[in-house]
Amino acid sequence: MPVTINRDTCIGCAACTGVCPVGALSMDGEGKSVCDEGTCIDCGACVATCPVEAITQ
Ligand code: SF4
Ligand code: SF4
Repeated sequence: MPVTINRDTCIGCAACTGVCPVGALSMDGEGKSVCDEGTCIDCGACVATCPVEAITQ
């Protein structure tokens, strides 16, 4: 299961994109993080990194 990103909570810091080992996360045109569902390996690194707990597994 890919992670779920709460777009209302995300502050656009991009910290999660830097820790994803498979490059599944990117920032969209609205400055919010998005997860490529087919790429995410559910490792949890981004969940632990997000400063506002916007990402859940
Ligand atoms: S759970 Fe792991 S693989 Fe999936 S988006 Fe987060 S850091 Fe990347
Ligand atoms: S680490 Fe959290 S707040 Fe920062 S871009 Fe990722 S989801 Fe948004």
